[in-house]
Amino acid sequence: MTLTTHGIAGALISGALIHQPLIGLPLAFASHFLLDAFPHRDYKILSLDESAAGSGVIVMNRGRNFTLDLMRIGFDGLLGLSIIWGLNSVVSPGSLYIVVLGGILGMAPDALQFVYGKYRFKFLAPIQSFHSHIHTDIRFKNSLLWGVGSQLLLVLVMSFFWWWYF
Ligand SMILES: [Zn+2]
Repeated sequence: MTLTTHGIAGALISGALIHQPLIGLPLAFASHFLLDAFPHRDYKILSLDESAAGSGVIVMNRGRNFTLDLMRIGFDGLLGLSIIWGLNSVVSPGSLYIVVLGGILGMAPDALQFVYGKYRFKFLAPIQSFHSHIHTDIRFKNSLLWGVGSQLLLVLVMSFFWWWYF
């Protein structure tokens, strides 16, 4: 799922529990795994070494595709953060730090995946195996409409729920 979707989810959760950040922030992190369980479409990491990835090692080949990946992932992350920034003024003005932190925590497991693939820190292994275990096998590879639509729908449902609840 895109970082934008994960970030918005994390921000909404931490915003909803703005006075209980010790509950809200861990829940924002946990929401990543729940969202990944829904059928969705991920964009391809172009520079990923597929043969190494098959054995669980993350190697990104340097070159044009790597630059392209950095730009796409960076854009995705920044888009998420800007939407969160905007949402915050509606959701809970004055608590920007917690809401942004919630958004970053919502995105974090995908970053941890790369850290684990590269450095193999032992303490990350359980998170990594849980992440790949819970991640859906249903990917809308051939349908851009469903791929993008399913995430838009999710964001709309989450926002509606938030609006309705508060
Ligand atoms: Zn993920």
